[in-house]
Amino acid sequence: MKENQIPYKTYLTEAELPTAWYDLRADMPNKPAPMLDPGTGKPLTAEQLSGIFCRELVEQELNSDRAYFPIPEEIRDFYKMYRPSPLVRAYCLEKVLDTPAHIYYKFEGNNTSGSHKLNSAIAQAYYAKHQGLKGVTTETGAGQWGTALSMACGYLGLDCKVFMVKVSYEQKPFRREVMRTYGASVTPSPSTETEVGRRILAEYPGTTGSLGCAISEAVEAAVTTPGYRYVLGSVLNQVLLHQSVIGLEAQAAFDKLGVKPDLIIGCAGGGSNLGGLIAPFMGRKLRGEEDYRFLAVEPASCPSFTRGRFAYDFCDTGRICPLAKMYTLGSSFIPSPNHAGGLRFHGMSPILSQLYADGLLEARAVEQTEVFRAAELFARCEGILPAPESSHAIRAAIDEALACKETGKELNILFGLSGTGYFDLTAYQQFHDGQMHDSIPTDEELARSFATLPKVPGLDE
Ligand SMILES: *Cc1c(COP(=O)(O)O)cnc(C)c1O
Repeated sequence: MKENQIPYKTYLTEAELPTAWYDLRADMPNKPAPMLDPGTGKPLTAEQLSGIFCRELVEQELNSDRAYFPIPEEIRDFYKMYRPSPLVRAYCLEKVLDTPAHIYYKFEGNNTSGSHKLNSAIAQAYYAKHQGLKGVTTETGAGQWGTALSMACGYLGLDCKVFMVKVSYEQKPFRREVMRTYGASVTPSPSTETEVGRRILAEYPGTTGSLGCAISEAVEAAVTTPGYRYVLGSVLNQVLLHQSVIGLEAQAAFDKLGVKPDLIIGCAGGGSNLGGLIAPFMGRKLRGEEDYRFLAVEPASCPSFTRGRFAYDFCDTGRICPLAKMYTLGSSFIPSPNHAGGLRFHGMSPILSQLYADGLLEARAVEQTEVFRAAELFARCEGILPAPESSHAIRAAIDEALACKETGKELNILFGLSGTGYFDLTAYQQFHDGQMHDSIPTDEELARSFATLPKVPGLDE
């Protein structure tokens, strides 16, 4: 297609909605390391995992060579309510930046959860329902995952118990009401409802919580309640698998346009939206069919890739979860409460971690005030109020487009606009009032947290 014929929006038809998820691990030369049992240092078996996750999801989690998993018809039907999502050419932003670059974004905010998280929530709830379970437990940070899961459980008639990071629970009371509308129960974490919550409260009185604490509580609640399993909205291999629907749609749309993105950018908290967006493109790169650059953007206040260690660590603060090999700041790392909303997790997807270690993925940390400057500029020219998380990707896309002014390069940039920011107005308010600060951890703080990295039996002894 000629450059000036590219439409503002490219939609696929319902019939073109992907029929299978793509698992990037199938094409990775170095597979992500397996999750380990912290007690024995041995890889976790399907049997051990099936006490925490439901069966089909355990199979997906442990896979490393099967490339495609058919999307069950019921999940595809649910997807049709809000997918395929549009691929947008950001003509207005390009004009304001006066850049020769061509900027595209894949918009995942067109559902009530306001984010891409619904793509995995419906899949996980579906498999729990099919196993005949009564309900699921989970944690939520900024609230998008809790909302997405509540929507999926409400639709399928499953119980949903959400532990919400206390700082978000207090900053975002309306999120809780959305979740309750879909029938979920919501508890601020750390809470006194679980043993691990009580332990964390005793150790860190007055803590505003972290995703790591909330995960510990949700896992404990799941394994101690009959008929319940735990579900997680990011980080896990199965979540990246479900999120591949984003990248598959984006790739199909670009193929339709006859355009190849040169640089693909996404924000990274636990890595699910980025991992889903890049999956099929990375697959082509790994198979030697095409070349692309991939860039992960993370907050300077929680810089897992750019300042973390690639090591086995717990996925939760309470240290009751399995060990995953990933870029991590240490499971005792709790980001400053000043940092707005999501992207607060101490670790990173093992798949993306391996790609980063192998030099296939780049990473950059950006400061919060610069992120909100980019968010505001984007809102004013593209009309969408972006989520603070997504605005990390916007920041990097703008910076890359501005760099093209120097080089004159007509770079095709694709970024993931993972969601909208209607529930993040407290953070927008702080920004507008000039009260937003960048709180960047010192090397000493990180060193203290690294010192708590676990010794793995057999590996470190
Ligand atoms: C949860 C969330 C993220 C971060 O999670 P990832 O797993 O890294 O994608 C990013 N953007 C939005 C809108 C979110 O809700």
